[in-house]
Parts: sequence; C-alpha cells; structure tokens
Amino acid sequence: MSSIMRKTVIGVTGGIGSGKTAVTDYFAEKGITIVDADLASRVVVESGRPALSAIAERHGSDVLEADGSLNRRQLRDIIFKNDNERVWLEQLLHPLIRDQILLELQEAHSDYTVLVSPLLVETDQHVMVDRILVVDVPVEMQIERTMTRDGMTEEQTLAIIKKQASREQRQDKADDLVNNSGSLEQLHQQLEALHQKYLKLVK
Ligand code: ATP
Repeated sequence: MSSIMRKTVIGVTGGIGSGKTAVTDYFAEKGITIVDADLASRVVVESGRPALSAIAERHGSDVLEADGSLNRRQLRDIIFKNDNERVWLEQLLHPLIRDQILLELQEAHSDYTVLVSPLLVETDQHVMVDRILVVDVPVEMQIERTMTRDGMTEEQTLAIIKKQASREQRQDKADDLVNNSGSLEQLHQQLEALHQKYLKLVK
C-alpha cells in the first residue's frame, strides 16, 4: 500500500460505562495505536493553547485555576446553564479537536488505528473512521457499572445517558458490535475475532 494512503481507522463508541476503555485496553495490548477523542478535547485547552486564551477572554479569570489552567467544572457549569455559551464553546473547540485527532491519526503506525469517542455517532467525528465498532450493553448495566465506578447516583447517570445517542441509534450505525453484558473474558473473545478480521482487512 502506498505510504500516502492513510491507515484504516476503526471507530469505537458506546454510551457512558459501556466498556469502551475495556475494549481499547485489549486492542492496545495487541499493539494497536489508540487515539482518544476525550484526551484530544483536553489537549486543545491546555495552558498556552489559543483556545484557553479565547475562553479566558470571554469568561474572565473565574474559569481559570490559580495556576492558569482551565477550571473545567466552572466552564461546565456555565455552558450547562447557558445554551448560547455552549454553542460558542462547541464552535471554538470542535474544529480544534478534529485537527488534534487527525494529527494523532496521522502519527499512528500500527496495522490499523482505533479512534475511541463517546460521541462518534453524535458528532461529525464518524467521518474520520472507516468502520464503527459499537460496545453494546443494556442501559441498566450501563447505569450499574457507572454508579459502581464513579460513585454517581442513578439520576446523574441517567441525565448523561439521555444526552447521548440511544442504544438503538448506535446499533443502527454499527458495522461491528460487541456485546459487553457478560464477563471480560467473553468480551475478549469477541475482540480477538474482530482484531483478526481487521488485520485481514488491511493486509
Ligand atoms: P466512559 O464512557 O464513562 O469512560 P467506558 O465506556 O470507557 O466508560 P469502562 O470504563 O470500560 O467504560 O467500563 C465501565 C466500568 O465497567 C469499569 O469500571 C469497568 O471496569 C467495568 N466493566 C467493563 N466491562 C466489564 C465486564 N465485561 N464485566 C465487568 N465489569 C466491566
């Protein structure tokens, strides 16, 4: 394959607590490069980045910690209460997050690359991937695992789930799907089959 052709990218998505990290941990162990959209969204607002200055100019020093870094909770509170500010922030950050993800995808050098994002279906991030792998679990299990992991209440967890795509919407977009309602071992068996399938696809 010509070196200017870009590598195959598998998009991994699923709702909160569905098991995306469990999935990407497995691929990472196989030597696959993982690009994480959540991490990219943090990189673009790091100290010294233009986006942080733009946010501070708009909202004042309230949104900054003492060391000049972003006070994420404060910013979250602002956009939660004010839709205009949420739109402003999304318009600022989305292109920057996209560019950061593209940069990391370009630097990847494994047989194929995984882009993991909780919002692959909800945003235009899906245009950056060749296939979509959905981590599927019943909503009750998402709630249970998230509450156990993060110590959140059922209400808080449900509020987040409601803002994300529904289980059915994700299933509709899936090229591949893993069922993570069983044990980790059962998850790994499904992932090994997919890993072999992806290796065949790129060879
Ligand atoms: P988020 O979107 O919130 O980051 P996630 O989709 O990455 O979540 P994980 O962190 O992988 O989800 O999994 C959620 C929790 O459920 C974790 O505590 C994880 O250890 C646990 N978990 C994941 N898969 C299984 C499984 N098959 N059996 C038991 N526990 C699991």
